[in-house]
Amino acid sequence: MARPIFATINLGALKHNLAVARGHAPRSKAFAVVKANAYGHGLARAARALREAEGYALLELEDAVALRDAGCRQRILLLEGFFEPGELPLLAAHHLGAVVHNRDQLRILRHLPAGAALDVFLKINTGMNRLGFTAAEFPDALRALQSNPGVAQVTLMTHFANADELRGVQWQMEVFDRLANGVKLPRSLANSAAIFRYAETHADWVRPGIMLYGCSPFADRIGTEIGLVPAMTLESRIIAVQRLKRGDTLGYGGLFTAERDLRVGVVACGYADGYPRHARNGTPIMVEGTMTRTLGRISMDMLCADLTDVPGAQVGSRVVLWGEGVPVERVAEAAGTIGYELLCGLAPRVPVRERE
Ligand SMILES: *Cc1c(COP(=O)(O)O)cnc(C)c1O
Repeated sequence: MARPIFATINLGALKHNLAVARGHAPRSKAFAVVKANAYGHGLARAARALREAEGYALLELEDAVALRDAGCRQRILLLEGFFEPGELPLLAAHHLGAVVHNRDQLRILRHLPAGAALDVFLKINTGMNRLGFTAAEFPDALRALQSNPGVAQVTLMTHFANADELRGVQWQMEVFDRLANGVKLPRSLANSAAIFRYAETHADWVRPGIMLYGCSPFADRIGTEIGLVPAMTLESRIIAVQRLKRGDTLGYGGLFTAERDLRVGVVACGYADGYPRHARNGTPIMVEGTMTRTLGRISMDMLCADLTDVPGAQVGSRVVLWGEGVPVERVAEAAGTIGYELLCGLAPRVPVRERE
């Protein structure tokens, strides 16, 4: 028997979550964001489940080429564009669209052959201050692209810094609207949070990422509270049971001391599987369908669960680390991070199964 840990990817959940995005932005086309191996869910399977999307967005060139080679006909957008001139022939040959966000890329584009027909997403920095042309640089950048015979379609794009928070998008929308006003080009602005909260950002193309995987983009709501279904469930089993006496400590560093006699289940899952090492004592975990808590430090291959409320638990009992029944958002919160990081951090050593 193999080590009992595995992740299940629910393909129906991916489809459902895309439909939720469409429900919120019914007049927009969607780039399903599948960067980082589809947020850890597996690029090929996620793309298959999300094939109703009009496009895919990611930033790994090899993955984009693999999608095309696998027969994908949809638009494919490279979210950081290209990094050197040598990549341009590959982009043209596979019809990959590119975000263009800086002047070096504009310079490289001058070498684009006239018939290349590259689709460009011109990224405007409206306040995120990571990628994109400033308001002052924008007119020149737009002119350079529109006069480039190798460029086919230009789409205006920006990215929001606070769509999931109180500060919102209005302050960035003002900058975007002022620049885009009167420019008759398609637009793409919204990530998951903006899809839920700000209809005025939906425009021609939305870019849902985290919501497709069933995880909430908001700190104060979990995915199931906003109509999403978790796509990844990480589960394992108990491989040993220990009886601690009052005063006994558990695991590395003795982080947990038993205040009374209790039973502890040792679970085959650790940080080398992608479970967060910083998950504190008391992180939610499910054993045999009952919610309980982790105890002690997370180690490389194991973690421990309190079996006080699960008297029937024994070696072989099923444990859910996150996913159906255990919101990944809650585990992330207990580890001082966000669901995004846990999902895309699923370790390669964890076998993956799929279900419809
Ligand atoms: C990752 C990413 C998205 C998706 O963001 P979510 O918060 O996961 O919906 C959208 N746009 C860009 C440019 C991105 O890099």
